[in-house]
Parts: sequence; C-alpha cells; structure tokens
Amino acid sequence: MRAAVVYAWGDVRVEERAVPAPGPGEAVFRIEACGLCGSDAMPWYVDSKAPIVLGHEPAGVIVATGDDVSAFAPGDRVFVHHHAPCNACAECARGLWSNCATWRGTRLDPGGFAEYARVPATNLAADTLRLPDHLDFETATFIEPVACCLRAVRRKGAVSSADTVHIVGLGAMGLVMAQLARVFGAARVTAADFDSDRRRLGRRMGVDIAFDPATGDPAAAVAAASGGRGADVVLVTPGDPAAVRAGIRAAAPGARVVCFTPQAPDVPLDLDQNLMYFREITLLQSYSCGPDETRHALELLADRAIDMSPLITHRAGLDGVAAGLGRALAKSDGIKTIIRPNE
Ligand SMILES: [Zn+2]
Ligand SMILES: [Zn+2]
Repeated sequence: MRAAVVYAWGDVRVEERAVPAPGPGEAVFRIEACGLCGSDAMPWYVDSKAPIVLGHEPAGVIVATGDDVSAFAPGDRVFVHHHAPCNACAECARGLWSNCATWRGTRLDPGGFAEYARVPATNLAADTLRLPDHLDFETATFIEPVACCLRAVRRKGAVSSADTVHIVGLGAMGLVMAQLARVFGAARVTAADFDSDRRRLGRRMGVDIAFDPATGDPAAAVAAASGGRGADVVLVTPGDPAAVRAGIRAAAPGARVVCFTPQAPDVPLDLDQNLMYFREITLLQSYSCGPDETRHALELLADRAIDMSPLITHRAGLDGVAAGLGRALAKSDGIKTIIRPNE
C-alpha cells in the first residue's frame, strides 16, 4: 500500500508500505476519506513527531479482523478514532479523555494518510463507530473535528439559549462551532476573521454578524451587538496569544473564553488579569475529544443538524497531502482538504 510520510515540515514522501495485519482484538480498514486538520499544519508539532504519517480524521471500510473480534466484521463502514481512552483511570472518570495515558498511547498504524490502517484493540473497542448507510465517507471524516468542537462549545463553553457567542477565526473549526452554537440555541453568534470569503461563509453557516478585525475593533462591535455586554462565550480557534487577548476583550462579565488550539511550547501568554478579575472572566482550554463526544457528533451529522459540505473546498489523493498541508498553514486558500488515499 502507499502512505504519505512526513519527514519534516515541508518534506512529504509517498512511500510503499506493507499492509498491516490485525492482531487479536484488532482490525484493519481501508481508508476511503480522511480530513486534513489545521493541527496537522503546526510545524513545531509535526517536527517533534516526524517521521510520521498524519491524518486523524479517517472513515472507511473494515477489510480484516483479528481473533476475538465479534463486534465488527469485514465490510463494515466505520469511523475510527485515532486515540481511544482506557475508560478506567482517574482522568477518564473525569471525562479528561486526552489526559488518559492509554488515549495518548493509542494511535492508528500508520495513520489516516495511508491506503490502509491497523486499528488497535483499544480503539476498536472504545471508539470505532459504525456509520449509518446514508452517511457518506466525506461527511464521516468530520466526526472527530465536530466532536472536538462539541467539547469546546458544549462542555467547556456550556452554550445555552441566553448566550451571545463570539468566535475568533472562521476556519473549518470556527464554521463548525457557529453551527453548533445554533444547535444549542445561542441567542446571537458573532465572529471575527480577516478573510472576506470566510466571513461570507460564516454568515451562511449561522453567524449573525462577522467582523473584519482589520477595519475596526471586534470587541466594540460585539458589545454594540449585545446591548453593551459582550459575548458570554468566546471560542478562540487560532493558537495565538493575540487571538486569545482579542477574545478576552470581547467577553461579557462572567464569560467563558475557550482556547481551542495550543500555542507553540514556551510562548508566554500576556493577559490583562485586572480586566479578567473585575469582569470575572474564566479562561478554559479544550483539548481534543473522547468517545461521548464522537457519538454525539455522529448523531448530529447523521441527523443533518449541521452541514459540512460547504467546508470541503479541496479533494486530493495521497500525492496532494503536501499541498494540503501548505494550504492549511497559509490559511489563505480554501477551508478543508479531504484526502482520498485510495484514489
Ligand atoms: Zn484534528
Ligand atoms: Zn483512562
């Protein structure tokens, strides 16, 4: 089979690999589609893991199962979560899936940007989901990213019907969050993005007012749109101190400001604690997602409560991984690339 191997940021090679074989409790699936995520385009992260086969948003068809597998069979159409928790440790008991040692240690072999991948027993048992017949593979690649957004919007942001929600950054994740804020009944959804196409798409996908930070202060505009209060929930999608500060400036008294993306290590975050203190603003971090969130995401996608099709702007085979990573880093051309490894 072929796999796209990243040796360093900017150095992606499509190579021949042996198709993995399933061990006891495991499965192998043919990857029909895999989303390319903004987090695949964090050079500091990729360089720390290289050489690596990226791709953690896969959907496909099981082609082989190992001994002791009864829940799945060849031919099953599935979403497979790249990481799966033990469901037994102190972190799992608290819903802190991404801090579970098992979650961190489990991964697809070799990854989603390959023709086939082996699903470890933990991933197969804890977070492999059968797809309803009407759910196509490309839509199913959004189960993991939507689940991450659910964690940010629902568990961390606790969006409810009285809330003004403000989204910093209208990339793929910001556009999903806008739709989710609507699903949870937000009174008002505002957003800020420098790109006019993204602002236009945002308005199509649930954003009431989208601001251009280059032409005015979004914080003042959010206040004006919310009776002077600001946003009760602020969702910051870029991993960038300036974006976090901009989000805090747009926050209402008592607001929850949720950081969705990590900064590079050792980058200090300068915050106006005085402002945060006197407005009782809470700063939260939302890291990835777990099995409860993937199931909820599948439900929303299967029910067509949210629509991912406008987000897919590029499709490519494994030869297109390098270009897709470049686009994701530049954030300039399109929204979401879907890799189809077997085409
Ligand atoms: Zn992702
Ligand atoms: Zn655990």
